[in-house]
Amino acid sequence: MSTANKTTCPYCGVGCGVKAKVVDNQIIAVSGSRSHPANKGLLCVKGSALHETLSMEGRLLAPFIGDREASWPEAIERVAQGFMQTIAEHGPDSVAFYLSGQLLTEDYYVANKLMKGFIGSANVDTNSRLCMASAVAGYKRAFGSDTVPGNYQDLEQCDLLVLVGSNAAWTHPVLYQRIVAAKARNDQMKVVVIDPRRTATADIADLVLPIKPGSDAWLFNGLFSYLAAGGFIDKDYIAQHTQGYQQALEANQTDFCLASLKTGIAPDMLQEFYSCFAETEKSLTFYSQGINQSATGTDKCNAIINCHLATGRIGKPGSGPFSVTGQPNAMGGREVGGLANQLAAHMDFSEENCDRLQRFWQSDQVARQPGLKAVDLFDAVESGQIKAIWIMATNPVVSMPEADRVRAALKKCPLVVVSDCMAKTDTTAVADILLPATTWGEKDGTVTNSERCISRQRAILPKPGQARHDWEIICAVAKEMGFFEPFNFNSPSQIFAEHAALSGFENRGSRDFDISAFAAITQAEYQQFKPVRWPVNTENPEGTDRLFTQGKFFTPTGKANFVSLSKPEENLSLAKEQQTYLLNTGRIRDQWHTMTRTGKSARLLRHIDMPFVEIHPEDAKSLHISENGLVELSNSLGLVRLVARLTDKIDRGQLFAPMHWNDQFAFPARIDSLIPGRVDAISGQPQSKNVEVQIRALALKGWARIFTTDTDFAEQLVCNIKPAFWTRVNLDKCCRFDMAIDSTLQLEHLQKLMQRAELKFESEDFKTYLFRHNQINHSFAQLIDSFDALVSSDFAESCIARPAQPGDWISLAAQDKAGEHRGAMICSCFEVYEQQIYQAIQKGCRSAAQLGNKLKCGTNCGSCVPELNQMLANNQNQLNRGADAA
Ligand code: SF4
Repeated sequence: MSTANKTTCPYCGVGCGVKAKVVDNQIIAVSGSRSHPANKGLLCVKGSALHETLSMEGRLLAPFIGDREASWPEAIERVAQGFMQTIAEHGPDSVAFYLSGQLLTEDYYVANKLMKGFIGSANVDTNSRLCMASAVAGYKRAFGSDTVPGNYQDLEQCDLLVLVGSNAAWTHPVLYQRIVAAKARNDQMKVVVIDPRRTATADIADLVLPIKPGSDAWLFNGLFSYLAAGGFIDKDYIAQHTQGYQQALEANQTDFCLASLKTGIAPDMLQEFYSCFAETEKSLTFYSQGINQSATGTDKCNAIINCHLATGRIGKPGSGPFSVTGQPNAMGGREVGGLANQLAAHMDFSEENCDRLQRFWQSDQVARQPGLKAVDLFDAVESGQIKAIWIMATNPVVSMPEADRVRAALKKCPLVVVSDCMAKTDTTAVADILLPATTWGEKDGTVTNSERCISRQRAILPKPGQARHDWEIICAVAKEMGFFEPFNFNSPSQIFAEHAALSGFENRGSRDFDISAFAAITQAEYQQFKPVRWPVNTENPEGTDRLFTQGKFFTPTGKANFVSLSKPEENLSLAKEQQTYLLNTGRIRDQWHTMTRTGKSARLLRHIDMPFVEIHPEDAKSLHISENGLVELSNSLGLVRLVARLTDKIDRGQLFAPMHWNDQFAFPARIDSLIPGRVDAISGQPQSKNVEVQIRALALKGWARIFTTDTDFAEQLVCNIKPAFWTRVNLDKCCRFDMAIDSTLQLEHLQKLMQRAELKFESEDFKTYLFRHNQINHSFAQLIDSFDALVSSDFAESCIARPAQPGDWISLAAQDKAGEHRGAMICSCFEVYEQQIYQAIQKGCRSAAQLGNKLKCGTNCGSCVPELNQMLANNQNQLNRGADAA
């Protein structure tokens, strides 16, 4: 039987509605929900591949205590006893929870209630600290509340869109597509992209400002001063609805020349941006991790907000500051107090709020002061102050700064409990107790996206094995700890109703977050829940599109604060010592976080399948680094090895590497092992960008590429050989392991191991060795001196599927060399490869639309259109060079 179920995508903060087609208890296809306000039927490539990531391979399906499978009652008892004993001996602040923007609001609510309401510590923080804590702090300083004023329609209604610190084309693709469509409809609309790198997002820019890394506050302070000096401010708005204008203007004074000098932006470009902002009433500034992930991120947010307050461009259609979150439920986490410095329902730790929560939860244990923020929390694990930690749905051994230290700290922590849907992650490897949790498709609850829109994630599939929902696990532990009544929930709808009731409790308009309209929601209503933007209360029963429309804020005076900034961040020196580079980190189009889900989809790995670092060609030349050569990045904290990609899209002295890869997919490639725990003093958000590293080329003997359906065999091989670097790629019919061989010993060892494993050895020439497993017919390997001569995955998969013949590999290798390489999959929706696109261009396609007509590429989610345009431009440049030479 086939049914369609409405749910929400679990990846980025856009929060797209998804329709899942279910046949025989399997999700066989997904599509965008047309009725969802976030995406109106669109999905990006990650969202459209959701059904490809649901296999049971690698799932954690039973509780484990150490290496031993345990029953649920035993596991729950051990967790509860472990926490209770630690608290009894060392006090409530000796324990901690580390949560995730992957959790649903209901999971988050009970976790926070248990720690802050009944254990009596606020040591509960979340990986959202790494993503948008500075945006929260910036909003709170300016508005007195953590409020995103506008919604996604504002992106379409503005006449000037400033995208700063955001590669939305890859990180928030559906919003980017909405912007592309709006720009096509509105000739007046201008897009300015501000980024140290020229990213895919620049594809739609009218103006690209290549800013020096970290200098954003100088840019917006300069804009603030320019607006004031030129009389572009809204004096009435400032007088009626704000405070601190004059003081902030003086404190943040940055003249035009200084702004140009500090940001490295040429005066004519800066002038164009400033005058465009000054003259465009409907202007919106959209920002993300490029602003937030900084040791001065909160100041950067307020530098942006100051400009919007000065022009009164807030709370009006098509204008305002707009921070988007990276995670699907970062906003929901904020609503329930998932951050260590918040209480539930957008309350802080004032005496009044603590008393209020105490009355509502009927607990005399409510925490009275903020707990430890993520970086401090793991420092406390290291120092032994925290002796028991429960990590839920996240992978801090990969994603936290100083990731090697975090791993070492967890290894020596007396009790580490990890709830996860996957058995093998870098963090489950250091757990004492493992608890199997449900994942997308199985989980049931709500999430809130970046525009305050609450949607349902629905349980479509049954819980596999012994997996349980996170809220069920937390409530079971809470009851075992003696808190029976407050955690006696039977369904997520009951939790949601309590969360809604708390949001309205003694609120009377004093707090922005109010969904009290759902305080009596029934199970049937919860099932039918339709996406809605908060607040949802008596005054706004249908939800609220936009806040601050009347210029009233949540500060004691009701006026918004201009913020005087401390001195803006100085640019880090690009070459304090020779060969010191600034490493920028970020995300790629088809992967999400630490790849536990997207890494399962062969399709999503065909766009980019290896961890890489981008470097300017001139820098590469001076360091003898070649395209696809293996390089080592290091600093005092650690080292990673990555494949080099040469591009002039970043400036000299800078590097860019994605943050996704981890010990399950590559080694050594955990970028966060290089990131220092340098945090913003106000928000506690770490600076995950602009990190000083050294880079050098590594000399290799060659590469080994192994295709196999027997992953244990390949993992053993990797373990024995200890190559300089390895990476794993999941393909449709098998797995691929690549190893960089840097010693003769490794090379000889590898050959022996393969022969011992009865891999038949064939040689084509001196440099190429091909092997095939004689007995199981399902593995083969290639050893070769050059990365570029490695056989392609397509070729290997076609071979894996058929029985071996004598001499097979020699002839197949010849075929492969004859042109089986299709390059990267550029359009993942229609599986269109690089070579096909170049061939179509050579045959006369001159625009992305023409390529779409011919090959369909770019005609679904549109995420690849910037790359299509880049390929067209590359071709044109080549033609121009040819013409010049002639
Ligand atoms: Fe999912 Fe974000 Fe893509 Fe929407 S844009 S489908 S929420 S990953």
